[in-house]
Amino acid sequence: MKSMSIIVPCYNEQEAVPLFYEACIETFAALPVQPEWWFIDDGSTDGTLEHLKALREKDSRVHFISFSRNFGKESAMYAGLEAATGDCVAVMDVDLQDPPSMLAPMLEGLEKEGYDCVATRRVTRKGEPMIRSLFARAFYRLINRISKTEVVDGARDFRLMSRRMVTAILSLKEVSRFSKGIFSWVGFNTKWLEYENVQRVAGETKWSFWKLLVYSLDGIIAFSTAPLALDSIMGLACCLLAFVLILYFFIKTLIWGDPVAGFPAMICIILLLGGIQLFCIGILGQYLSKTYLETKRRPIYILKEKE
Ligand code: UDP
Ligand code: MG
Repeated sequence: MKSMSIIVPCYNEQEAVPLFYEACIETFAALPVQPEWWFIDDGSTDGTLEHLKALREKDSRVHFISFSRNFGKESAMYAGLEAATGDCVAVMDVDLQDPPSMLAPMLEGLEKEGYDCVATRRVTRKGEPMIRSLFARAFYRLINRISKTEVVDGARDFRLMSRRMVTAILSLKEVSRFSKGIFSWVGFNTKWLEYENVQRVAGETKWSFWKLLVYSLDGIIAFSTAPLALDSIMGLACCLLAFVLILYFFIKTLIWGDPVAGFPAMICIILLLGGIQLFCIGILGQYLSKTYLETKRRPIYILKEKE
């Protein structure tokens, strides 16, 4: 019989942990695989770790990893992938927004249809604030236009992967991890299953609008260098404009003389150019800061406990 590891990042999810476990047990009763759970306590400040320890006592197939502080879901997923020993590995949220019932068709895709990855995407964004959906759509359109790596709109982290795909993902050791890009970058045949958005069973989402915005900008920086090229294009456009204006004023002065002081125009131009320059330096700064963080080679997470 094959084995399946389930990686579950948890951050302050004491209510959801037992519910998730129960739902899984029901599902696995009907699946022809040997399950193994890796819960990652991502520096929770509530009773999450105690709940995980209790589960571990009850069921030896349950394992947990506890971080020294909150490192984020990306780090938690990496730690889980590292620890998992199964022939195939699934990543799931603990809030039951990723229905365990989908594991059966996912397994089928891997075993019978020969895919290396069966991933899920939400086809609706029901229950999500309007502005968030709007930004999300714009983000996917933008990143897919400027990056060679495809980032599928609505793709969840919920997916089942073969061992060789997991090995490939683990070989990407970058510190600022953008999994939606990494999953796609490593390649392999991926089957997409679609489903309707499900509300979380308990607790609250850990993603504020700002966090999502920063995360999406990180994604763009991690998988595209197009913004850097934008700097040069804007510089070139400014030079061309300046050249045309110089010619225009030169000829105008020759014919009519120079009776106008042109003070307001000067201020506008100085402000515009200053703005463009600062904007471009800012973009450069973003890439530099990422490079700086990567060169430090800090670990992706710090382990406190593992069992
Ligand atoms: N999560 C985590 N670390 C964090 C934030 C979230 O491990 O810093 C986990 C969280 O416990 C959940 C999953 O990542 O299992 C998805 O988080 P959430 O449900 O808040 O995100 P959403 O589903 O709203 O996108
Ligand atoms: Mg959720």
